[in-house]
Amino acid sequence: MFLSVFDMFKVGIGPSSSHTMGPMVAAARFLDTLRASPFHFHGLRASLHGSLAFTGVGHATDRATILGLAGFAPDTYDADKADAAFARIRDTRTIEVPGLPPMAFDPLKDLHFDFGPALPGHANGMILKATDAQGDVILQETYYSIGGGFVLTAAEQAEAGGTKSKTRADVPYPFETAAEMLEMAARSGLTIAAMKRANELRFRSATDLDAGMARLWQVMNDCISRGMEGTGILPGGLKVRRRAKGIHDALIAERGLNMTAPHTINDWMSLYAMAVNEENAAGGQVVTAPTNGAAGVVPAVLRYYLDHVPGASTARIGDFLLTAAAIGGLCKHNASISGAECGCQAEVGSAAAMAAGAICAVMGGTPALEHHLGMTCDPVKGLVQVPCIERNGLGAIKAVSAASLALRGDGQHLVSLDACIETMRQTGRDMHEKYKETSLGGLAVNVPNC
Ligand code: SF4
Repeated sequence: MFLSVFDMFKVGIGPSSSHTMGPMVAAARFLDTLRASPFHFHGLRASLHGSLAFTGVGHATDRATILGLAGFAPDTYDADKADAAFARIRDTRTIEVPGLPPMAFDPLKDLHFDFGPALPGHANGMILKATDAQGDVILQETYYSIGGGFVLTAAEQAEAGGTKSKTRADVPYPFETAAEMLEMAARSGLTIAAMKRANELRFRSATDLDAGMARLWQVMNDCISRGMEGTGILPGGLKVRRRAKGIHDALIAERGLNMTAPHTINDWMSLYAMAVNEENAAGGQVVTAPTNGAAGVVPAVLRYYLDHVPGASTARIGDFLLTAAAIGGLCKHNASISGAECGCQAEVGSAAAMAAGAICAVMGGTPALEHHLGMTCDPVKGLVQVPCIERNGLGAIKAVSAASLALRGDGQHLVSLDACIETMRQTGRDMHEKYKETSLGGLAVNVPNC
């Protein structure tokens, strides 16, 4: 398997990589299929299944699907143009995109939330259809949004055997498990980041790699900054107030007063993560890390490293991201990074493991690990707000604590990363469906919706 740093970290929009970005990407793929078809199409239809239906309204899955069918993509998303296009489709009940004839699409009638059983391939399924002049379906495709913005057709999903590829990648260090990764590191004398870099250079130049990672950090850091300035109530109806700015202002005011408790550093880590996840909940630009719901952990730990750790250097940002991507790739390849598949242990848990390994690496250690085994996904009202926003802050704190402990250890651990990842896979498999991003269990049913 080879999962690029640009697969694990993708510039996109909130609030969800699997429920917002994935459907938009799937719709774009469907347009390409239509363009390559000899048929003449007159209309479009879409249906959302499983978790995409149950939490689709909270995640704006319907809007993302429609905008994807209108030609929008997460990485080039323009909010103003999207608003205008969405209003136009609603008023004209027609979708117009380059390379295809105008196609009838009524958002109220042609997009269906299917609350029946999930599609067989994955909890996040959607079916897109194109019709002829009589309204008969002449082409349709099933897509699965498997987490982190990754999308597979039903055929690709079946061929891949779930989310796990069977072929070894043609790269210098084709590790598929943590044990292999550490063994290759010991044999080569290279760090995880150096091996990952060598693998990346198999597909792109060093200039492109470094420029791409610089952009990733720029978008992450801008997101933190915007989040620390944002005020007001987050959309969706839960009336969740944005808190990052208030925490930031208070922390700044306390500086230099000689009254700051040592644990205040935790508030800085939480602040950075919450800023990102409030931006995500508001539909802003974020970097999936490895998902949108968990997008705050990795940037928060990197910002903490840069701003608070003595001797930190911006020259290590690339190594941080490469190490995190290597660990995230192992989680995705051997278990999951999808809350709808394995619960939040696969999202915030994977993000914390990525961040822990990354900060440990740039501080001179071998990988530290933090797991959140068993953590369910239970977003209140299907919104990536409660418990997601604060959960990212705590994920960042746990990641840094794990790295700190590892740096004080001798490198010997009873539990390996592979054992954690396999346990996450098994726990996710056995987890009741209501705890997998359906909002049918956990906090989602015990917190009153107002
Ligand atoms: S609870 Fe975790 S997995 Fe579920 S939506 Fe929130 S961040 Fe994502």
